[in-house]
Amino acid sequence: MKKKVLKFGGTSVGSIDRIQHVANIIKSEVEAGNKIIAVVSAMAGKTNELIEYSQAIDKNFDKRELDVLLSTGEQVTSSLLAGALVNLNIKSKSWLNWQIPILTEGEHTNARILNMNVSKINQYLKEGVAIVPGFQGVSKIGDITTIGRGGSDATAVAIAKLLNADTCEIYTDVDGVYSTDPNKIPVAKKIEKISYDEMLELSSLGAKVMQSSAVQTAMMYDIPLEVRSTFTNRKGTKIFDQQEIDYSKSVTGVAYSKDDAKITLTGVEDKPGVAANIFEPLNKAQINVDMVIQNISSDQNTTDITFTIKRDDLSKTKDILKDNQNIVYKEITHNDKVSKVSIVGAGMVSTPGVTYRMFRGLADEKINILAISTSEIKLSVIINEENTLKAVKKLHTIFELD
Ligand code: ASP
Ligand code: MG
Repeated sequence: MKKKVLKFGGTSVGSIDRIQHVANIIKSEVEAGNKIIAVVSAMAGKTNELIEYSQAIDKNFDKRELDVLLSTGEQVTSSLLAGALVNLNIKSKSWLNWQIPILTEGEHTNARILNMNVSKINQYLKEGVAIVPGFQGVSKIGDITTIGRGGSDATAVAIAKLLNADTCEIYTDVDGVYSTDPNKIPVAKKIEKISYDEMLELSSLGAKVMQSSAVQTAMMYDIPLEVRSTFTNRKGTKIFDQQEIDYSKSVTGVAYSKDDAKITLTGVEDKPGVAANIFEPLNKAQINVDMVIQNISSDQNTTDITFTIKRDDLSKTKDILKDNQNIVYKEITHNDKVSKVSIVGAGMVSTPGVTYRMFRGLADEKINILAISTSEIKLSVIINEENTLKAVKKLHTIFELD
C-alpha cells in the first residue's frame, strides 16, 4: 500500500470524457491497494477565459475579486472528478481549500502556501479518495487566494509533504521531461531520471513541464516526483535526489525561452557605486535582473553596462533608468528580440570543456552570443531570437542528446 498524491493538469481534465478517464486511472490505483489524494487543475483554457471575463470589466480588475473568480476553475473539476469516482462505485469527496484549510500568505493572485491542516484528508483516506483543487488557498483573514499560474503543482507537492506521501505523480499531456522541446525538435529524447537541481534549472529556463517553485519545494523536502502522461501507459520521468543518478553525459537537456530583453547603458562612469546606483531602484521596483556584463573601459573614465531582464519589465525598467538623477550615462539601448538558450546538466561539474564546446558549436552556426551566464550545472547565452531553434538543435547534437 502506498500513499500517493496524483496531480492532474488542465488538459488531463479538459473535458468530461477526460475526467472520466482520470477517474478510471484513480480507480485502478485504488484497486491496487493505494491511498489516493488527487489534486486537479481547472479545465484547459478555463483560467485564461476567466481572466478575460475580468478584463472585459477592467484591465486592472480588483485582485481580491480576481482570486474569487479564478478559484472557481479548480472547484468545477474537483467536484466533477469526485462525482465521476462515486459513479464508478469508488468513495470520494472533494473539499475547497478554505474548508481544509490551506493557508496562504502574500499578495492576491500570487500567494504562497504557508501551512495546511491535513487531518480531515488523512482521516478520509481510510475510506475513500480525497480530491483537492489545486491553485487555491485562503488567507489569514479568510479571503480566497490563488498561488500563481501553474500553481496546482505547488499544491500537490505541499500536500505530498504534509501527508508524508510516498510519491507525487504529475499527470500531464506529455509523457515526461524531454532533453529539449519535443514539439520543435523531433529528435528530443525522454529523460528517465533527473535530479531536482537539473529539473529546477530546466523549468526556470523555459521547459514548461512543471512549475519551478513546486520542484523547489519537492527538493527541499525530498519528495520524489514523477512526470507522466494521462493518455498513455508509458513510464514517465522520475525526479529525485542526484546521488541516485548516474551521469554518463555532461549535459542532460537544452532549454530555451523567449521572454527576456537586453538593455545597454553606454558611457557610464567607471567608479565605485555606479552599478549599485543602477540596480538599486530596479531592486526596489522588484525587477529581476538576470545577466550582467560590464565592459572593460575603453578610456579611463567610462564603461558600458549590459543586463537582461524579463521582457514584460522592459518599459518599466527604461522609465526608472531615465527618471533617476543618480544614474548618468550617454545612451540607453535595448533589444527585445532575443532568446535565452541554456544547457543544463549535473554532469557538467565533472566534465571539462563544456563551455568551449558550447561556444564552438554556436560559432560554427555563425550565431553571435550577446550575453552569458553560468552556474554549477547550467550555462545560458542570450542570442538573437531568430537563431533560437538553430542553436538548440546544434547544442542538442553536440552534447549527444539526439
Ligand atoms: N488553473 C491554474 C492555471 O491555469 C493553475 C494550474 O493549472 O496549475 O494557471
Ligand atoms: Mg497547469
